[in-house]
Amino acid sequence: MRIGAIEAGGTKFVCGIGNEHGQIEDRVSFPTEGPEETLRRVIDYFRGKSVEAIGIGTFGPIDIDPASATYGFVTTTPKPGWSNYDFLGAMKREFDVPYGWDTDVNAAAFGEATWGAAQGLDSCLYYTIGTGVGVGVYAEGKLVHGLVHPEGGHVLPRRHPDDAFAGVCPYHGDCLEGMAAGPALEKRWGVKGHELGVDHKAWEIEAFYIAQAVAGAVLLLSPKKVILGGGVMKQEQLFPLIRAEVGRLLNGYVRAEAIVSSIDSYIVPPGLGDNAGLCGALALGRAALAGANR
Ligand code: ADP
Ligand code: ZN
Repeated sequence: MRIGAIEAGGTKFVCGIGNEHGQIEDRVSFPTEGPEETLRRVIDYFRGKSVEAIGIGTFGPIDIDPASATYGFVTTTPKPGWSNYDFLGAMKREFDVPYGWDTDVNAAAFGEATWGAAQGLDSCLYYTIGTGVGVGVYAEGKLVHGLVHPEGGHVLPRRHPDDAFAGVCPYHGDCLEGMAAGPALEKRWGVKGHELGVDHKAWEIEAFYIAQAVAGAVLLLSPKKVILGGGVMKQEQLFPLIRAEVGRLLNGYVRAEAIVSSIDSYIVPPGLGDNAGLCGALALGRAALAGANR
């Protein structure tokens, strides 16, 4: 089986071809430009490659309601040219195959549930802490869409007592993304995240914010695994800090084995590593093909 996969990021696009076992056989990557230029490169890549389906996990917000007139559109992004852009339509005009279409983080959650850290589980959360913060939700064996799609990167955390930073979210200022995404780290400390030493106070504050979101999501959704990915989570020292803070916040109330005695294997990095996004798109494509063949 040859399945196309697109990990459409706000900074870069990754396109690949893989099979139904989650193996990526070929890939290319290029910077995200305006929609026409970017889609031209995507279409050039897939032309002549005879894929049977294509899965797309994309930055958003996007319209994922199949009943909507603007299904398949990128909706309100501040990214120049992409607002109200018919991404899926542009693909469908070129390649008449079944499509999987979802947010980048829902795709990554699905990839992790299919082949990664949450394999065999019927629920997980996938957070990306990168240029922005996003959350993909997989529950009861399905991706959660709801009204629009989950936007858990913009929840409002309690402020760290030593943190006077105003936050950088254009909508909310000091929401989770405004306080803890890569650009917030950079603005607060005056250097990029990877330039801060592993013992820097920044990581305690970072973990304080991420842990609140995770603890809240554990209370609300009761996921069987929490996966933390994205560029900022390359700072591995964050994992023990976040686990300890989640434990402190929940304070023994959620009496699950996974949290009380094995939180190290409950809050984890992506099992698929840097392939989480692309494999997620592949899993969406595979599911679309299975649905079309039913
Ligand atoms: P994107 O979110 O654009 O898809 P990433 O997940 O790589 O891409 O996130 C990029 C953000 O993560 C940038 O703000 C960058 O400064 C930050 N970042 C990348 N690598 C690291 C690192 N090793 N340590 C801390 N921050 C990092
Ligand atoms: Zn926000």
